[in-house]
Amino acid sequence: MTIEMLGRMRGEVDPDDMGRLARCCTHARLPQTPAAAGYRYYDLGGAAPSFYLRRFRLGTRTAAVSLIAPVELSSGLDAERGAPALAQVVLSVGARPIPWHEVCEPDLFPGDSALLARAALQAVLELDLLTDEECPLCCD
Ligand SMILES: [Zn+2]
Repeated sequence: MTIEMLGRMRGEVDPDDMGRLARCCTHARLPQTPAAAGYRYYDLGGAAPSFYLRRFRLGTRTAAVSLIAPVELSSGLDAERGAPALAQVVLSVGARPIPWHEVCEPDLFPGDSALLARAALQAVLELDLLTDEECPLCCD
């Protein structure tokens, strides 16, 4: 984590960003180059959807952003690894997924790291978040 990142995360969430989170349907476009954005791809096989995971770690504590069940933009089918796709965004603190309406200010439990939660939120804000109206997965 860079000093610049820490500086950005110390402040309150920008009101514009709060608005983006509130309007978002929980889907986002995958980053063009997920690996360069810090995401690793997981396909566990079976019925479990594939997902991308960006993890933040401080000692034994973690927070993460998952991009779950990517759907290919062109075909609407399950996306191949690295294909342009939409996915559901889930922020988790430790092993606990945070409900979307709380991602700005997650209820932290003893042992959770507020800094990691904020780092994960920053990663969510770096995504191209979709609204209900523009999201093809939600509007039909
Ligand atoms: Zn959506």
